[in-house]
Amino acid sequence: MIKFNHLAKKYNTPLYIYNFNDIEKNYISLKNAFVARKSLICYAVKANSNLSVLKKLSQLGSGADCVSIGEVKRALKAGIPKYKIIFSGVGKRDDEIEEAILRDILMINLESEAEFDRIELIAAKLNLTARISIRVNPNIDAKTHPYISTGLNENKFGVDIEKAKQLYIRAKNSKYIDPIGIHFHIGSQLTDLKPITDSAKIVAKLLKSLKVLDIDIKFFDVGGGIGIQYDDETTIKLYDYAQNIFASLKGLDVTVVCEPGRYIVGNSGYFLTSVLYEKENNSKRFVVVDGGMNDLIRPSLYKAYHKVEAVEVEGEVSRCDVVGPVCESGDFFAKDIDLPKLKHGDLLVVKSAGAYCFTMSSNYNSRGRACEVAIEDGVDRKIRARESFEDLIKLEKECL
Ligand SMILES: *Cc1c(COP(=O)(O)O)cnc(C)c1O
Repeated sequence: MIKFNHLAKKYNTPLYIYNFNDIEKNYISLKNAFVARKSLICYAVKANSNLSVLKKLSQLGSGADCVSIGEVKRALKAGIPKYKIIFSGVGKRDDEIEEAILRDILMINLESEAEFDRIELIAAKLNLTARISIRVNPNIDAKTHPYISTGLNENKFGVDIEKAKQLYIRAKNSKYIDPIGIHFHIGSQLTDLKPITDSAKIVAKLLKSLKVLDIDIKFFDVGGGIGIQYDDETTIKLYDYAQNIFASLKGLDVTVVCEPGRYIVGNSGYFLTSVLYEKENNSKRFVVVDGGMNDLIRPSLYKAYHKVEAVEVEGEVSRCDVVGPVCESGDFFAKDIDLPKLKHGDLLVVKSAGAYCFTMSSNYNSRGRACEVAIEDGVDRKIRARESFEDLIKLEKECL
């Protein structure tokens, strides 16, 4: 049990709390699901990039899937070895590509022919070879929210099967490009196994056809996207997930790479916020809290559902919206939920707040980012200080 009252007194609110024992448990259960094969778990840094979270995962043996050079540097700083780091993303700047090559990370995941050209040019300039993988878009509907669906041709991600094949042949003949991986990632918060299994089959078939051409791919990267329970969703069983992927790889000697983000950290995190007051407009009840959409934007951005519960307050419940102080009607955490009568200082906890919450936070309305705390074996510690007003204006002050 997490002592939310104690933590609110000690660190103040709004506050992010991550249970590191849960992060460990999730990492190990996924690693175990893949036990029958060589596997590498590359945690998707964008889900939660706090250095202490990355350090914890690095100690467990995790690699990192990064979508900017900033994330690559975070991973390295947290102790994740360079040979376990992948650099993905649909748009990489020249300086990011150059640094990734110089830092000798495992591979750069490229997503277009134009990007192939840039990487080859930059590697040639450095007189180095860039290890790459190609993100294949299998044109499969992941059946998730359109904003987090990435596996259809209409999405901006990856290249189609034919183009991928052409690029692998080009890579084989290039002095500066070494194709070692093949990749797909069809979306996030996937709760149905079939689209993943279908994609794995399609991409494995491409891999086999490359083998015939003497292009030897060593890493089969199945992306991330494993869904978690926010409400009452049924989710994917890890054993079935791994077995279905293995089934598509019969007879192939490859290392399976998996890039989970949400699965590892999502349900390990909590966002704690204090009630400022209640108000009623035309008999509609609002609970106004000290956290806002700048701290946690998922409900506003994707109408995402997060469970919101009162901490140690009982009594008769009634319908209300839980809203923040930011000057936007979209600034809410929950709509039409039942909560007991609340008073100033009571605490609410927003659940499943470990992934895509703090990392999407901003300073909108000149609000400092929240403090982050880790709990491990019952002991709490600060892993990021609350941002002060001085932090907010630091880069402007010197320009005044
Ligand atoms: C975002 C992302 C992931 C992680 O997705 P989750 O749904 O958090 O598991 C993995 N791989 C790539 C390429 C991504 O863009």
